[in-house]
Amino acid sequence: MAKSADRCSFCGRLRRETKILVAGLEGHICENCIQQAQIILSEEMAAGKQKEMPDFLLMKPIEIKKYLDQFVIGQDEAKKVIAVAVYNHYKRLSHAKEAKEGDVEIEKSNIVIVGETGTGKTLLARTVAKMLNVPFCIADATALTEAGYVGEDVESILSRLLQVADYNVAAAERGIIFIDEIDKIARKGDNPSITRDVSGEGVQQALLKMLEGSVVNVPPQGGRKHPEQKMIQVNTQNILFITGGAFDGIEKKISSRLQTNKIGYKSDRKHENIDKDNILQYITPVDLKAFGLIPELVGRLPIVTYLHTLDQETLRRILTEPKNSLIKQYTKLFELDNIKVTFDEDALKFIVEKAIEFKLGARGLRSILEGIMTDAMFELPSKNNIKSFQVTTKFVEEKFMKTSMARLKVA
Ligand code: ADP
Repeated sequence: MAKSADRCSFCGRLRRETKILVAGLEGHICENCIQQAQIILSEEMAAGKQKEMPDFLLMKPIEIKKYLDQFVIGQDEAKKVIAVAVYNHYKRLSHAKEAKEGDVEIEKSNIVIVGETGTGKTLLARTVAKMLNVPFCIADATALTEAGYVGEDVESILSRLLQVADYNVAAAERGIIFIDEIDKIARKGDNPSITRDVSGEGVQQALLKMLEGSVVNVPPQGGRKHPEQKMIQVNTQNILFITGGAFDGIEKKISSRLQTNKIGYKSDRKHENIDKDNILQYITPVDLKAFGLIPELVGRLPIVTYLHTLDQETLRRILTEPKNSLIKQYTKLFELDNIKVTFDEDALKFIVEKAIEFKLGARGLRSILEGIMTDAMFELPSKNNIKSFQVTTKFVEEKFMKTSMARLKVA
């Protein structure tokens, strides 16, 4: 009989039957068994990845707010509320791991952010996800439909989250989903029995299940184009939902509620101090209900906060202060061509004024700057002798007049 040194300790093949026989302390392994082991290893690793609980970085609320400050200008109230909600939500996840039978169960703190378009709703949600290093995706409530109708099923949101999480189910299950335009699926009118908006309410019902936490069968590729695909089960219990919407006209609902309360609770509330210019700050879940969100959905979105309209001062700060502000980005782009670019204060003021004039908010700053800087970005990299470039008010005015935006105004 052949000595053990002459055969593979795994499959028993003789040395002469193998191409390579690698010697270990007590045995040997042949090339076939190495390959086989490699396959087992990758399969196990992949399966492990599905179960693996990836770590997230959880800071205290004050630190969370400080982190948000680096990217989001102003909106202090919202940042504070979101910092606390996010902290509690992820603390709840850590608690769940250690929880015993009969322990207090901390409920999920899904969030509604009310604010005009371009005031930073998406930015806030995205920044929180980046901070925690958890998967993040954005969905538009207006694209959603009830199951069985033309449009996107609610489950498609989870497909997207899975894709972002690289199909790591455990990671997706503690991710963040931002649902934009939640106000657009509100039921129209206060009285549900007369003016029921079936489509909007149907979507609200469909969302409800996902928001309250359930196991959903998710098509990994999304949509209905691949009916043969195997469903992946995703538990939404620990997914944080941040929803946003402009809720046009909600101020009226808030005002009228404050008025009624004034009569009803005259003695114990001081409504004389109501700041009428900033009614949104008094928003509560009751107002969302009055706006047309179904009570069950409002109940699943317990944290309500609001964003201010961006004024001139805030827009000016947005240009330069965030960690990746537009001006910092342009400076970097030119720096890569060894050109030092500087912006005159009045030039920045001009850009802000145009963003306000064209009602473009912060989103407009980018398009205006892009229009102004195109020529310089086109020409300067080829001019080897230019080492610095000053963006003056005159330059900005001249270039802006040539942009399609300015021409639109003239026409
Ligand atoms: P919304 O979701 O409210 O419509 P976004 O978050 O998409 O608005 O904001 C649009 C753009 O404007 C973002 O890319 C961001 O650069 C900028 N922005 C808006 N608000 C702020 C803010 N408060 N601080 C910094 N940038 C902002």
